[in-house]
Amino acid sequence: MSRYAVGIDLGGTKVEACLVDETRRVLARKRRPSEPGLGRERVVANILGLVAETAGGARVEAVGLGTPGTYSAADDIMYGAPHTPLYEKPGLVSLLRSGLAAPLVVENDANCLALAEFFAQCHGRYSSVLAVILGTGMGAGLILDNRLHRGPHGNAGEIGHTSIAIDGRPCECGRHGCGEAYLSGPSLGRRYAELAGETLTPDRIYARYEAGEPSALRVFDDSVRIMAELFANCVNALDLEAVVLGGGVSNLPLWYERVPPLLAGALFGTPGRTVPVLKAVLGDSAGVLGAAYLALREMRLMTF
Ligand SMILES: [Zn+2]
Repeated sequence: MSRYAVGIDLGGTKVEACLVDETRRVLARKRRPSEPGLGRERVVANILGLVAETAGGARVEAVGLGTPGTYSAADDIMYGAPHTPLYEKPGLVSLLRSGLAAPLVVENDANCLALAEFFAQCHGRYSSVLAVILGTGMGAGLILDNRLHRGPHGNAGEIGHTSIAIDGRPCECGRHGCGEAYLSGPSLGRRYAELAGETLTPDRIYARYEAGEPSALRVFDDSVRIMAELFANCVNALDLEAVVLGGGVSNLPLWYERVPPLLAGALFGTPGRTVPVLKAVLGDSAGVLGAAYLALREMRLMTF
């Protein structure tokens, strides 16, 4: 008899869910607006409605939820989710839990992406991997020795808030020189605007970089060095074997062409190593799939 789990990816504007069976096969996938502007009860009603619709009558044994920030069960709050202030207020998860018939596991959305991408392209090949989401912010999840490494508070792997310059650019987190303050989509836009006086999306700045426009060249020449430095810090600290890059800003080809050689040149220790920078292969389904894996682990159908 088949067994079923649901994964949920809760974002700032939409919520997505998928139904999987014990073989990790996706049987249904649906989305709807999350509507955080309409309050906590509305968000929970949207999630519960979506779960019921996605399950379609299947007996769901566990539910995994990926959210921005780090969930604290003690405070029933998501910490470090500045782009979704509602989720930083207490009560959302407990309200959701009380509306579900199955156990709920909550995890940071970048950790969900890390899990899904790890099983999609690394498992069996690389055992220790950092997965980074580069978009509105810079989130990350860490797999060490084939296990999701959360740390005691769920904060492990947050490379986006490690600094490459103590007097560097101010970050939304209050510190200076964080990776996110240089490499997130909005940060790339701000850095270009400071040089060129024009605010553009990363894709449009990249088109100008390819055309040889000096300000765009400056932004991306610096960006590949900054990314390599950040990744090297992580690899040197944790002996990682690969880095996976996902999120809206990960589509620019230069990260995969220019960062790996710089990274290889910055590694400490065992000589001759290369650490590949791999493009995420699951697109925007990684978050919801990783959330479903959490539920499958809860059902003792997966180990990580
Ligand atoms: Zn920061």
